[in-house]
Amino acid sequence: MSLHQLNRIIWIVLLTTHGVVAQKSYLLRPDRIFDGQEIRENWHVLVVNDKIVAVGDAKTIATVTQSSKAEIIDLKGCTLLPGFIEGHSHLFLHPYNETTWDDQVLKEARSLRTSRAVVHAKKTLMAGFTTVRDLGTEGAEFDDVGLKQAIQQGIIPGPRMIIATKALIATGSYAPKGFSTDVTVPQGAEEADGRDPLIRAVRNQIGKGADVIKIYADYRWGLMGEARPTFLIDEIKLIVETAQSSGRPVIAHAGSVEGMRRAILGGCETLEHGDAGTPEIFALMKEKGVALCPTLAAGDAITQYRGWKKGIEPEPERIKNKRKTFQQALDAGVTICFGGDVGVFTHGDNVREMEMMVDYGMKPLDVLRSATSVNARVFHQEQLGQIKTGFLADLVAVEGRPDLRISDVRNVKLVIKNGEIQH
Ligand SMILES: [Zn+2]
Repeated sequence: MSLHQLNRIIWIVLLTTHGVVAQKSYLLRPDRIFDGQEIRENWHVLVVNDKIVAVGDAKTIATVTQSSKAEIIDLKGCTLLPGFIEGHSHLFLHPYNETTWDDQVLKEARSLRTSRAVVHAKKTLMAGFTTVRDLGTEGAEFDDVGLKQAIQQGIIPGPRMIIATKALIATGSYAPKGFSTDVTVPQGAEEADGRDPLIRAVRNQIGKGADVIKIYADYRWGLMGEARPTFLIDEIKLIVETAQSSGRPVIAHAGSVEGMRRAILGGCETLEHGDAGTPEIFALMKEKGVALCPTLAAGDAITQYRGWKKGIEPEPERIKNKRKTFQQALDAGVTICFGGDVGVFTHGDNVREMEMMVDYGMKPLDVLRSATSVNARVFHQEQLGQIKTGFLADLVAVEGRPDLRISDVRNVKLVIKNGEIQH
């Protein structure tokens, strides 16, 4: 830091902590920080209002803070990290071993689902996840819009939300299904096909508040119940073009090779799941700059719900295959987003995905990068995901060394969102 920069920061601190502009400021003194990229031993962080104002070695920050009224928070034994960014959540779902997905969509009132979502939001935040990309209400209409507003307005605690609202499916492809042909059953997402209906559906979701358009590029609607592509590639291109006019990205649920291929070539920014990916498909993702959100924990949870006794019985084919394809994606150099499809498993236990990413072959430090700076970049959140001067003060302190033992992210001691300590 140059003398000029130092003086400027001291000036800002004095200005903002001596009543010129009434402010709240904190000097955070952990053992080390993870700044979104690297571990920095003995670095401290000064927060004024909702921003990170200074970050650096303890001595420099002490100089900067000297004559300010910043409240000192000692975080002995802790690592301070950027608030985690969950890449794939469903706050309107709860674990399928409690209630099946079909029954949640068909039998649970939206008031019940919203009540649950409010609780889920708080649990997520207090686990250190200050942002979520929530990828579809799964039948709860546009209720994520109101949930997001309630959090923004400070009515309820929760993470900042990037929302998809209803998501888009090709007619007949999604679920619930298997009912009498004589009845029309509500679906977990919005059906639309062909040029005009798709344009209208995308624009309507945007108008209601979608930050991102989610499509299901494939689903289990093959003759044998296998995952098959849904939208035609021209339909995907049309969705992307329509969404892009408003500056919004399109992301795709895609598990089959052909579904993934269409989503990549159609212009989607991230692929969710990607279970049947191949080295060729991952090479294409790398070439086109498409990121993979692998949702390892969801497959792991569902396999257990179906009877697999993890740790006792050998790994079923589905799990072995997921390990293999995840490794192929890593080998191809595909950008990996952190996102577990939480909701399939318990909200607040988002960390499970981090542990599984390490178990399936990633280094803990890379997993931390994925859950912070990588997700921020891929999700276009320029002020999040790093502990850096000028960035928003979304921070989490955990006891221990998560860069060495990923499970230490479970030892949350402090969560700050927008410069405010969360309780
Ligand atoms: Zn999902």
